[in-house]
Amino acid sequence: MTGGRTVKDLLAELAIDPETVLVIKDRTLLTRQERVEDDASIEIRPVISGGAGARRPRMTCRRCRRPAVIELRRHNAAFCQPCFTKHFRDQVTRAIKDFDMLEPDDRVLVAVSGGKDSLALWDVLLDLGYHATGMYLGLGIGEYSDRSGEVARRFAEERSADLLHIDLRNEYGFDIPSAGTKGSRSTCSVCGLSKRYLFNRVALDHGFDVVATGHNLDDEAATLLGNTLRWQTEYIARQFPALTAKEGLVKKVKPLHRLSERETAAYAFLQGIDYVVEECPLVAGNTQLRYKDTLNHLEAGSPGIKAAFYLGFLDSAADRFRDEVAGEGDLVACSRCGQPTTGRFCAFCRARAQVLGERLAWPADSQLSRELAEEVLPVGVYGEAGRNR
Ligand code: SF4
Ligand code: ZN
Repeated sequence: MTGGRTVKDLLAELAIDPETVLVIKDRTLLTRQERVEDDASIEIRPVISGGAGARRPRMTCRRCRRPAVIELRRHNAAFCQPCFTKHFRDQVTRAIKDFDMLEPDDRVLVAVSGGKDSLALWDVLLDLGYHATGMYLGLGIGEYSDRSGEVARRFAEERSADLLHIDLRNEYGFDIPSAGTKGSRSTCSVCGLSKRYLFNRVALDHGFDVVATGHNLDDEAATLLGNTLRWQTEYIARQFPALTAKEGLVKKVKPLHRLSERETAAYAFLQGIDYVVEECPLVAGNTQLRYKDTLNHLEAGSPGIKAAFYLGFLDSAADRFRDEVAGEGDLVACSRCGQPTTGRFCAFCRARAQVLGERLAWPADSQLSRELAEEVLPVGVYGEAGRNR
């Protein structure tokens, strides 16, 4: 490594948590702030017995004893490629069975982003023999969206699978970057609600039985952590890997919820799936990342803690929140689009109207005025007077 830097910088480059090691030079301990010159020789010694630094990976497959290609600390196991693929499929099969996610003849709509999770999900569902059609939603996020759409199209061609392509700008008049600058919601908030709305709507319009999404264990654990920190019990109640169909709401399932992000990435890589590795350029505003970081930090010291947190929640606590499924008791049809909602207009129609600078109804409608007044309406879209009408 190049010297002339502090111990802290060297450890950062090696992705080593300074709390887990001693840094030694000439039998002297170095602090994080000390400088290490180019020709110096240092020892980085793990201090946690049985911890990350001292551990020796098992390099043979747990099932067949052939050389392993991946080690999973959570399972205290390593797998060769065929056995890892089997492990991955077994976890998906178990998830589907445990939560009655899919029937063999179901028409499944897979929400495809072009990333590792959604393509791994689509791949494994096709391999397991399900009728799985992909749906790619074009968000209009520059080159990132162009590449994602291309990857999804290529995957569909290679697997001879059907792909629906819906473009937000062409069909609904706005894209996600503009939504982030014009509306009162954050970019990721509009993006998330647009996805939920459109996957549901397209599934209903095309007669699909179920929507499958590629949420993995890390996603679900991070969401659960965020919901728990704020005790958002209605959201916690919806954190089930399978939500049954209701009037106007198609069934939703998350067959990858038992598999970590690293496992889905490894599966996609080993299956030869070309997926978009880059993050969405707008991800900086996504609060879920902070929760993922926190959990990864915990996981580094306690392998398996993430799974214990989320899968333990499903086993021991989720049922206690089931009565609180968020506001779905009194669903009515959105006055604009007819999709189910709890107010007069659904969140998608409201967000879209804000971005496009449209009014959803005449100002004389006092009931609506009250509803809209509860939102912070951007002056640039509604004008100053629009706030109080
Ligand atoms: Fe959408 Fe935010 Fe995810 Fe980007 S990071 S795809 S804007 S939710
Ligand atoms: Zn609507």
